[in-house]
Amino acid sequence: MIRYAVLSKAELEARVDAVDAGWRTRAAGRRDAFIAAGKFNEESSIWSDVKTVFMDLQYDKCVFCERVLGGKLARKSEHDVEHFRPKGRVMNWPYPSRMPKLIYTFSTGLPNSTGYYWLAYDVENYACACKGCNSDRKRDYFPILGPRGAAVAAIAALNASEIPLLLFPHGSLGDDPQDYITFEGVIAKPLHQAGLPQQRAQVTIDFFSLNDREELLADRARVIRELFKTIRLTDDPDPQMQAAARRDIDTIISNVSPQAACARAYLSLAKSDPQKAWEIYLDVQRYLKPSN
Ligand SMILES: [Zn+2]
Repeated sequence: MIRYAVLSKAELEARVDAVDAGWRTRAAGRRDAFIAAGKFNEESSIWSDVKTVFMDLQYDKCVFCERVLGGKLARKSEHDVEHFRPKGRVMNWPYPSRMPKLIYTFSTGLPNSTGYYWLAYDVENYACACKGCNSDRKRDYFPILGPRGAAVAAIAALNASEIPLLLFPHGSLGDDPQDYITFEGVIAKPLHQAGLPQQRAQVTIDFFSLNDREELLADRARVIRELFKTIRLTDDPDPQMQAAARRDIDTIISNVSPQAACARAYLSLAKSDPQKAWEIYLDVQRYLKPSN
């Protein structure tokens, strides 16, 4: 997951207004109609009109898996606007026949037929996600511990009354994924060993299959391979090469780069346990080697 820029609601709304000055008024009209009807119901949506706000905030990366997607020149087709709290219904997750191996010792919440319809046009309920994370996995799921919050409650009130199991690194209301998820080599794992932080990290890793998608593992392996070699260049006899390597490391671990959370964890390991970092480098080299 990405570390999201921390924005207040006013700052986020200002960015939306800069993209489309009339959007919030149109969106409010739609939201009011849903609240009057007690459900989400419309033929065509307008949330994609402000998609670029979130593409920019997320450096064109998927909020959940940190893959780099196409930017504005590639238009917007690789990004979905994802509703963190589902707008039309909430389905049971994990669904036993689709995910028989996912068994938790805690409840993951009950489904309902109306979802969080009043948040369909709340910009604080949005992020951009890739189709693998949004269409294939997020869908209408929203696992929580305990009961769901009351209808038409604002997000801040819902956050106080519900315990979402998925991390949402969105603005001032969300979570910093680095407080929950770390990486051992290419593998995402909970930073904490027990309690709610461990549960939320594990559910998020399971939910988005963060350790089971070859495109993510390969992305992380390539990042580690590059980072390992760049770290070695910081010991080069040429001071200019050393400086260039340090600049490259700053870029590799910055939010603009793919799989930056994995890169940051690997850089930390390279400092604390160089032997382990070397072994992981050999592992990723084997992983990336063509098989034929
Ligand atoms: Zn994704």
